[in-house]
Amino acid sequence: MKIKNFALIALAALSAACSKPKEETPKFDYNVDKFADIEILRYQVPGFEDLSLQQKKLVYYLTEAALWGRDILWDQNCAVNLQLRPVLEEIYTTYPGDKDSADWRAFDQYTKQVWFGNGIHHHYSMDKFVPGFSQEFFTDQMQRIGVEPDAQAELTQIVFNPNLYAKRVNQADGVDLVTTSACNYYAPGITEAEVEKFYNAMRDPKDATPISYGLNSRLAKDNKGKLYEQVYKIDGLYGPQIQKIVENLTEAEKYAENEAQRQTIQLLIDYYTSGDLRTFDEYSIAWADDTASQVDFINGFIENYGDPLGRKGAWESIVNFKNEEASHRTEVLSQNAQWFEDNGPIDARFKKPNVKGVSAKVITAAILAGDSYPSTPIGINLPNADWIRAAHGSKSVTLENITEAYDQASHGNGFNEEFVIDEPTRQLMDDYLFITDNLHTDLHECLGHGSGQLLPGISTDALKAHGSTLEEARADLFALYYLADPKLLELGLLDNPDAYKAEYYKYILNGMMTQLMRIEPGKDIEEAHMRNRKLIAEWCYEQGKPNNVIELIDRDGKTYIQINDYQQLRQLFGQLLGEIQRIKSEGDYEAGRNLVETYAVKVDPALHQQVLDRYAKLSIAPYKGFVNPIYTPVIDSNGEITDIAVDYTEDYPTQMLRYSHDYSISNEK
Ligand code: ZN
Repeated sequence: MKIKNFALIALAALSAACSKPKEETPKFDYNVDKFADIEILRYQVPGFEDLSLQQKKLVYYLTEAALWGRDILWDQNCAVNLQLRPVLEEIYTTYPGDKDSADWRAFDQYTKQVWFGNGIHHHYSMDKFVPGFSQEFFTDQMQRIGVEPDAQAELTQIVFNPNLYAKRVNQADGVDLVTTSACNYYAPGITEAEVEKFYNAMRDPKDATPISYGLNSRLAKDNKGKLYEQVYKIDGLYGPQIQKIVENLTEAEKYAENEAQRQTIQLLIDYYTSGDLRTFDEYSIAWADDTASQVDFINGFIENYGDPLGRKGAWESIVNFKNEEASHRTEVLSQNAQWFEDNGPIDARFKKPNVKGVSAKVITAAILAGDSYPSTPIGINLPNADWIRAAHGSKSVTLENITEAYDQASHGNGFNEEFVIDEPTRQLMDDYLFITDNLHTDLHECLGHGSGQLLPGISTDALKAHGSTLEEARADLFALYYLADPKLLELGLLDNPDAYKAEYYKYILNGMMTQLMRIEPGKDIEEAHMRNRKLIAEWCYEQGKPNNVIELIDRDGKTYIQINDYQQLRQLFGQLLGEIQRIKSEGDYEAGRNLVETYAVKVDPALHQQVLDRYAKLSIAPYKGFVNPIYTPVIDSNGEITDIAVDYTEDYPTQMLRYSHDYSISNEK
């Protein structure tokens, strides 16, 4: 599972600097490029210089293994992507004409969009990009660089015909999802019904440890009309790229931190060699069990969002190492799980006598690749196979250098100035929102969801359709309530008793106002996390009215949130936590439904429009992605690697062109 930055778009826009004053270092430039609806950022890799030389070499070869998979993903996304890319890039790098012309500017944007989408479709909407340059311009350029006439006609169709390859992944109801999706997991002409029949025949319902059928293959049809799998492996489909990946994994293996990690890498090599999904499961188990190594990575056919039937794995890789300091936070919380359980504002009958915290690890990403590049998740929870998760557990990680980059890059985008009521509140958020946001997530994930118990005989799905909204509200309230607890200072997780106010202000502002920017005018709030935030904020606003705890201030037609009493707000969070825990523990569906329907769903149209108007003026790009650092071995006169140098200066087109040049099989000499 990928945890996308959906929630973070609003969150990062609001937050700012880290709690601790930064040492005097040259200012790192997070902002790289901006085009269409995209902003390109760069991220830092703090702590890389503190790794041992062996660990640095391990990271280096794993990043090489990561970059060699790029073209696999391009081809998986759509069969024409690798046909178009070299033509776009040749035009891009050799264009002799006026770079101020409308055609060139549109071509420049289109090429950047295609790079970002790893092909001709938008990474999020899945729609085909619409070129803003003229067909004549494109034809002229193709002629200039010597594209054959037949290929010219084909490429013109690919770029300009809106009905051809219209959507990468189609999820619409009532149509054949396979034939109407442009992704390349199924050969042309194969229908959804044929795919279902093919894989249903493989499944053994009695198998308690089923492999992920179809994960690492393309489905094709032979000349007799029979379906067969083209397996992704060293002597199969994508063989040349997989060969390169394996070569680099073989190098990486030499620098493994311990025997368990060495074996994990070897299992991955075995899997790439045989294509056997049983070996992939063995690898996944070994990977999930390895919690001792500091350096870690994913590399393979993992997530299935790119397949309309949710079966085929898109190639991706992320190389990372554990952020010991930040991981300490989640370890401290986990160790004190029972204290938090015992001291919560909920009825004793609903408390767990023995509670166990989940220890999630915080990591520093060193490279993003394949389906995780340039658009990247902020958290990952793997493996995906249900039976492995049940029997061996999973690893849950947060990519904190990525969230920090989002956060830093949003600094100065005008969001806080527009929506936060006054300078002291903005200052508090500048100083403490990054750390309190992280702590809020830690409390929510490590302790919140796992706290509390059901009364005997109460079903886990008694709250039915409202279950997930109320469950998210429970975990959020747990986090909000404890964020203001002196215990966090005592545990050394916060250094200022007022720090929590930064998160409280953001939470109420987001729940009542700013999250509405993601809702279309006239629509209700549907998504569970958004409903939960609105429920909590609106309920506290209503219940706090007699004492004016939260106030809506109007200034020249603009609404601002003012919090008059933070301690009373904390008591309200506690009160609602107690009530929602009761609802869950007793399975009180009616009371749960009532809370959701009253506070979480309906939007005030006037306030909604106001938020949309104010947000639109800020011109903040809705989607963000990253360029990677460059890792270069430092080699001494004996040919030995003595260090790995990290460089952050590469811009977006240069990186894309370099990857196309250095990590494409067709360019191999
Ligand atoms: Zn949650």
